Amino acid sequence: MALLADLAALRARVAASPGRLEKRRLVAEYLRALGPDDLTRAVTYLSGRAFPVSDPRVLNVRGLPVAESGASSQAPLVLEDVARTFDDVAAAAGPGSRRQRDSLLTELSARASDAERDLLQRIVYGEMRMGLSEGLVLEAIAEAAGVAPSLVRRAALVTGDLTAVAPLALGPDPAALAAAQPRVFVPLLPMLAEIAVGPADALAAHEGATAMEYKYDGARIQLHAAGDRVAIWSRRMSDVTRSLPDIVALARDNLVGAAPLILDGEVVALDPAGRPLPFQELMRRFRRVRGVEEAMGSLPLSLHLFDCLMADGRSCLDEPYTRRWETLARVTGGRWLAERAMVASVEEGDAFMARALAAGHEGVMAKDPRSPYEPGGRGKKWFKLKTALTVDCVIVAADRGSGRRVGWLSNYHLAVREGDGWAEVGKTFKGLTDREFTEMTERLRALATADDGYTVRVSPEVVVEVDYNEIQKSPTYPSGFALRFARIARIREDKAPGQATTLDELRRLYDLQFATKGRAEP
Ligand code: AMP
Repeated sequence: MALLADLAALRARVAASPGRLEKRRLVAEYLRALGPDDLTRAVTYLSGRAFPVSDPRVLNVRGLPVAESGASSQAPLVLEDVARTFDDVAAAAGPGSRRQRDSLLTELSARASDAERDLLQRIVYGEMRMGLSEGLVLEAIAEAAGVAPSLVRRAALVTGDLTAVAPLALGPDPAALAAAQPRVFVPLLPMLAEIAVGPADALAAHEGATAMEYKYDGARIQLHAAGDRVAIWSRRMSDVTRSLPDIVALARDNLVGAAPLILDGEVVALDPAGRPLPFQELMRRFRRVRGVEEAMGSLPLSLHLFDCLMADGRSCLDEPYTRRWETLARVTGGRWLAERAMVASVEEGDAFMARALAAGHEGVMAKDPRSPYEPGGRGKKWFKLKTALTVDCVIVAADRGSGRRVGWLSNYHLAVREGDGWAEVGKTFKGLTDREFTEMTERLRALATADDGYTVRVSPEVVVEVDYNEIQKSPTYPSGFALRFARIARIREDKAPGQATTLDELRRLYDLQFATKGRAEP
């Protein structure tokens, strides 16, 4: 039985200690003493959540009601009491449920001391505000278990949920952590790709043979199926099942009876003539839940699958790409597969690329045939080869428009990722429609952090794909680089800021330019 008072005391001590090492030691010491159920609860609450990441339930309350404490005659609160109350709050539904939720929380609040109530308040609001990032909790679990943080990180990526990892790391079986498996209906981060300029890059990294696939210009999906249940997540791990009834039906009709299965792929929206539609149309449908039925008629989707993470209830993550592809072909009966070819020379690679472009796609992917699937990983195992020059930037500020653009925030300051921060690499007011300008203005106003009357600084949340003509060395930007003729190609609703291009990548792209261009500098 873990006392809530102990967790509240830990929170206070962690908040008061300045150093990361000390914070980590305190948390590790606390976790080491807990049993499996309390471990799960403690890690959840320490991450500032009421439920684990993989648990879709929400409390649906605005805060913790203030209640007079003084119920000291009652037994002290334990984590299990909190978990029970949260279960009941989440289960409350229908008429009168708001009052029911409030009264459940009031009851809990009345039994709590001031310190406990403060902690509960933070959990209910979903923010610990004590510098307890998921990274710190992860390291504390590793320290408590006496294992390398990389092992805990891998298990967290594979299971899709750090809370599931703590009992594995601190449980009786020392092999459990390394043996962590994905779970059906718990989404994993998708594997990502680095940019390459041509097939030669990929062939060199993959030691002479690479698997090329068309790069479909749509939206990434992860499809989970077991029995007759199907669920679909987007690249940012939002549940988009209800937006994609046609894909659900397709999976249910064709993968029915399948033992637990997780597939990775891309959906593309088509116009009535079967041509791919702009990505923006597809994102509109992702956001829409009502009216999906009509959207299905006017906006049919095509599905392109390219990986298999689980088949017959067993993880395929550690198998090489070629084996996973065979499994994918088996479980789908060879349908809905991405177009692909094994490539062993630059000529074959160029030919495949030409075929992809002629078919209207934006480029190709080149994947190492020997590589395992690394959730959330971005590296040289997967490359994307595109002809158009684009990078993904985050908007960090915007200038007020003038002339025709009065009333809008219309000149956007673009930044790439640099460590934990942002490095500006250009500005643009090109690429958006009037309607998009209006929507973007509203969105950025809500994100404003400072305003000098001309430039509004915003918190870095909106990702945009930016076309450019050239990367130049810049004396004005501290990043050292500027995008020439920057223009917003599209708003990347599907990307989180953490997935934007990095300054290192930009530097590499800068150098790569000279593979085809002369270098004027000495
Ligand atoms: P980017 O969005 O430019 O970082 O490119 C990577 C994205 O391309 C992935 O996240 C997928 O959404 C998409 N994609 C399209 N076709 C494929 C494919 N055959 N394999 C992997 N990703 C693909």
